[in-house]
Amino acid sequence: MGLFANISEKVERSISKKFKAALDTGDGDSALLGLVGKLATRPALARKIYGEGEVFLIKSALFMSGVRLDESAYEAVGTRWKEDLGQRHYDPDAGKPRTRAMPHGILMPHGFYMPLTISAASPLTLRRDHGELCLYLDDFCLFPVAYEPRPSYYDRLTASGVPMRHVGVHRLLRQVLVEYNAYCNFFSQKMPCLFCGIVSDRPLLSARHRGKFAATPGEIAEVVEAAYDEGVATEMQVTGGVLKDQAEVPYLLEVGRAMQARLGEQTIKGSQAVLAAPADLVQVDALKEAGFEGVAFNLEIWNEALWPGIVPGKQHLLPRDGWLRALEHAVGVFGKGNVASVLVAGIEPARSYLEGVEWMAERGIHAVPIPWTPAPGSAFEGHQTPTAAWHLDLTVRVLELWEKHGLSPERHSAGGLHYADLGRMRAHLRREAAESANGEMPKDLRHSLAIEGKLPAL
Ligand code: SF4
Repeated sequence: MGLFANISEKVERSISKKFKAALDTGDGDSALLGLVGKLATRPALARKIYGEGEVFLIKSALFMSGVRLDESAYEAVGTRWKEDLGQRHYDPDAGKPRTRAMPHGILMPHGFYMPLTISAASPLTLRRDHGELCLYLDDFCLFPVAYEPRPSYYDRLTASGVPMRHVGVHRLLRQVLVEYNAYCNFFSQKMPCLFCGIVSDRPLLSARHRGKFAATPGEIAEVVEAAYDEGVATEMQVTGGVLKDQAEVPYLLEVGRAMQARLGEQTIKGSQAVLAAPADLVQVDALKEAGFEGVAFNLEIWNEALWPGIVPGKQHLLPRDGWLRALEHAVGVFGKGNVASVLVAGIEPARSYLEGVEWMAERGIHAVPIPWTPAPGSAFEGHQTPTAAWHLDLTVRVLELWEKHGLSPERHSAGGLHYADLGRMRAHLRREAAESANGEMPKDLRHSLAIEGKLPAL
């Protein structure tokens, strides 16, 4: 709870400092103070009182501890506001049974966004007061927040009669995610990646296409077109487990071709296929020809000695050299910045992790820092991820390497993620330094978080 004590103190100190000049607290005018209390939670004012650094800290607390939902916070979720559809197998609460529609994420001041993890034990609560949704720390309203409006395509059916929201969910502010199954052959072979909880995910559709896939390529193309046309998505991702004989590869090719035919474009803007690195590099070229703009081959762990132990199925499928060769080949085909590989942050030592990030960045590949959250159903269930301070420091080092090699943090699938937030703060600080008389960055909370990679000392 140290993080919460720090946030509470920081926020209260910040508010009292901001209002000191404007308020005569000596006379204790309760009507005036009550009014100021209401004003303080207005969205426009919240943006001024809470800087980007403060909001980022609170977002970090949400990530580490989740949030509770007051009864009032359920109002209009699933009708006016977007509901969570559970296809988020990185998240600890993704597979939990749902008896009612739950909110998917919140929009916070300064453009911050956070997908929600619900936890009854969290000191943070979402509550609606007089129609306005607020994020509370105990009894203190930190600031107003908002849910995302529910996309219109969530109410539509495909031509085959399937709810579009079951084919592709909307996430990360601007993405349609198509998860073609919640199964991986590595579990049957008794060699799943140790951190993986994909089988705890609750698929929205059973394997209704060829016994393996949730949706047909044509249905996926239809849903992507609907989400793009509505203006709620500018990118799509198709992902799922590794199947026997890598049956997902020909399927992905069909998905790409279906999108090409439906959208009438050779390359589908913002499209990404996520798959195990193919041994046959011709398949990488074929994915490009089928219209994908980028690919991700998720190595997950860089450390050479740990790799076979943590991701045994991947090692069995193709030795590590083959994965690296496929990544290098892919960047030649798709171009710099269009190839990615998740490295799960928090399992291996920071030193080897950063070696992997640098190896990839030198080649124009994003090694993506996804913080490890021990997933239910995984071999690591019940373990603990490193501290917020550890993750922050690592992420800032990743951003430094990306910047050194000309890779943008606003990459595919970055919408609302912590590294994009930190990248944005770094850009703002640089802009302010360029505009200031002395050319120096402001030494505020943002500097400590996004440049030094340190939690503030309070
Ligand atoms: S390849 Fe690994 S991470 Fe991916 S679904 Fe299979 S077990 Fe999970």
